[in-house]
Amino acid sequence: MKKQSAKYSKTEPSARRSNKSPTSPSGNPKPEDMLTQSQVNQELLKTQQSFRSSTGHQGQTPSISSKVTQSVTSPGRNMQKRPSQIISKQQLQNMHERSVIKVLGMNMEAVCPKKNHEKNKMLYICQYGDCKADNRLGCSYCLVESHNDHSQQVMEVQTFCKIFDDRKKQFKNLSDTILQVPDKTAQVSLFFEQLRDQIMDRLKQIEKNILQSIQEQLAWKPLQKEILYRVEVLSSKLIFDMTQDELKESLEFIQGKHFKELEYIKQETNNYLSQKIALVEHIWNDYKIQLETDITQQLNDYNKVMFLDPQSKEFAEYKMQFFQQKQLKVNELSQPFHQQLEMLKEEERKVEEKKQEEIRIQQQIEQRKKEEEVKKEKERQKQVQEQILKQKEAQKNSERQSERDKLLKTFPYKLYTEDCQHRTKCNTIPIFSCCNKAYPCSQCHGFVAHPPRIQVPSYRYCMKCLEIYLVMYPTNQAINCLKCQK
Ligand SMILES: [Zn+2]
Ligand SMILES: [Zn+2]
Ligand SMILES: [Zn+2]
Ligand SMILES: [Zn+2]
Ligand SMILES: [Zn+2]
Repeated sequence: MKKQSAKYSKTEPSARRSNKSPTSPSGNPKPEDMLTQSQVNQELLKTQQSFRSSTGHQGQTPSISSKVTQSVTSPGRNMQKRPSQIISKQQLQNMHERSVIKVLGMNMEAVCPKKNHEKNKMLYICQYGDCKADNRLGCSYCLVESHNDHSQQVMEVQTFCKIFDDRKKQFKNLSDTILQVPDKTAQVSLFFEQLRDQIMDRLKQIEKNILQSIQEQLAWKPLQKEILYRVEVLSSKLIFDMTQDELKESLEFIQGKHFKELEYIKQETNNYLSQKIALVEHIWNDYKIQLETDITQQLNDYNKVMFLDPQSKEFAEYKMQFFQQKQLKVNELSQPFHQQLEMLKEEERKVEEKKQEEIRIQQQIEQRKKEEEVKKEKERQKQVQEQILKQKEAQKNSERQSERDKLLKTFPYKLYTEDCQHRTKCNTIPIFSCCNKAYPCSQCHGFVAHPPRIQVPSYRYCMKCLEIYLVMYPTNQAINCLKCQK
């Protein structure tokens, strides 16, 4: 504040100067800026009169704000009321535009309306807070008469206007730093415009691919062309120009060979093409619905924008609901195909099971066959083994027999082939040591010559193998030859 008022007080010297030598009205205005003398006089008179009446009014309401309001609401009228005089173009260059009064297209400057102030220019403005003068604006005379006690606070109107402009600029700058509500229209519109373009491009690409796929699916090389051409060639020739082969084929033609071929081609084509056409029709209809549903689903009401705090629970819930709704729709749409797939899989599973069962049964049969073969083989081997054993046995027997026969020639005891009735059955015959003779038992030995002697150990011989051996039993004990016992 102090600095500013000091700065403003720089105007003081010029004010003082003006005080000593009051500025006189401009003497030589350029001719092109001038109206005719009578017009100017008339205009001046008019504005002077109205200015006087308005100054009286302003004097009654000295508050600055009311003056400002008045000048803002009707600036044109105020300017016209002020007493003024024409200014030259050269002078105009140094004047602030707000200090120039425009009357009938002429540039005028304000002059003092007070009597005895000699229409001096209104050059000064008083910024003293408690100024009691009837007008803060004034000429050099006013300065002396009404503001002399605070003349340091008076500055030139031009300076005031410049300072006001500077302050207004600062004011505007400060105002510009207040955060503004951003206009998102352009940004959002651009986004949607680009999105529309992208979607359009994508749709065109999809359309192109679909068309191409369908055309590929329906591609068909007509088979009848070749045969039609051949018949055409035959029918276009003079009979006597034809080769023998051509004549032969012509005869075949009237006999119906080509008709049969064409009939076959017709049937094949119908079979193939009608299936193809039906398939394409079916797939295309399904595809249409799929794409339409897909797009409308993606662009449904859930795409409206929700302004929730991204960190909040509500936002997370909103997002989850968004995706769940999508998931629900996807589930609903995929349900029939899921079922279809499950059914087909179940059928496949059953077929596979049946196949496995058949394989299992087949394996069982084969296993049984194998087992039987193994069994047969074993039996065969067993038979062979038995055969061998029998042969061995027979050989052994014959060997034994020959051995026995050999022994028999020198055998020292009586030969028994049967047991006696008196004792427990066995296959050996005891040798009584009393007479060194063999008897089946003591009874058979008898008591005629001498009584039989019973002793331990005792000798035996085997009725079969004729072997003689010593056993640790009494002579009359029935003992079997272990080798020959069966
Ligand atoms: Zn004055
Ligand atoms: Zn004053
Ligand atoms: Zn004896
Ligand atoms: Zn006996
Ligand atoms: Zn024996």
